[in-house]
Amino acid sequence: MDNLRQKAKELLESKTVNLVIGYENGTNGKARAVFITDPEKTGKLIYDERCKQNLAVYLNKHEVKHYGKIAIVAPLMVMRSILVLVSECQVKKENIVALGIGEDGSLLDFPSLEVVEKYVAKIPLGNPQSDQEILDKLNAMTMEQRRAFWQNELERCFKCYACRAACPMCYCLRCTVECNQPQWISAPAHPLGNLEWHMLRTMHLTGRCVSCGDCGRACPLNIPIHLLTMQQAEEAFHMFGVRAGTSMKAESALSTYKPDDKENFIL
Ligand code: SF4
Ligand code: SF4
Repeated sequence: MDNLRQKAKELLESKTVNLVIGYENGTNGKARAVFITDPEKTGKLIYDERCKQNLAVYLNKHEVKHYGKIAIVAPLMVMRSILVLVSECQVKKENIVALGIGEDGSLLDFPSLEVVEKYVAKIPLGNPQSDQEILDKLNAMTMEQRRAFWQNELERCFKCYACRAACPMCYCLRCTVECNQPQWISAPAHPLGNLEWHMLRTMHLTGRCVSCGDCGRACPLNIPIHLLTMQQAEEAFHMFGVRAGTSMKAESALSTYKPDDKENFIL
């Protein structure tokens, strides 16, 4: 932790960056995001098992971007999200300094995002084990059982869109679900409209989800919607060999055509 605070302080003092995004102690024993511009305030930074939020969600915000060069505390999920955002031209790689956090909580030295790519390449990627176990159980069900499970869960959704706000990869300024000219998705929360909304969200994140789980954690009704995008992350890997957040030059799995793509899903 001291290493992290010291590094953040040095970066701000030397004006290498103008802002540090990290975690601090919040209320009720929780950790929360903190935005630091004053080198003397880097002592607030923490990193422990409570620091689960994917901080990369802030990188694309206008209020953050205007700081120019930014350092961000980056456990694996944040590193991967940064690589997705660079590959999608949402952030400039020269504006991001990753204060990498290793699996043991230690500070990693990443002089550039190219070094982050090399680090990520060595890590086995996939869904968190606890989520994958639930997915395995769902996948072992019949289609009717699975449909009943999701209908039951999604009927509870009241369309607060906290899941969308939590995801670094859900960054459109105007989301299709809020367009009414034409209205593609029914606005009120009802079973059909909810199903449409979640199918749309899931498809838009296929091959782009880094399995951080923040969408599910953000849901005030504890609907496990992260499982939908995590399932799609596995599908994208099995069908196209793609894992999101591994390269700054990655192409989108669902919008890139290759002549040798498997096509047996097209009837
Ligand atoms: S788990 Fe949810 S919040 Fe995290 S990247 Fe995937 S869709 Fe976005
Ligand atoms: S956070 Fe939960 S209730 Fe809100 S839109 Fe997402 S799934 Fe629905």
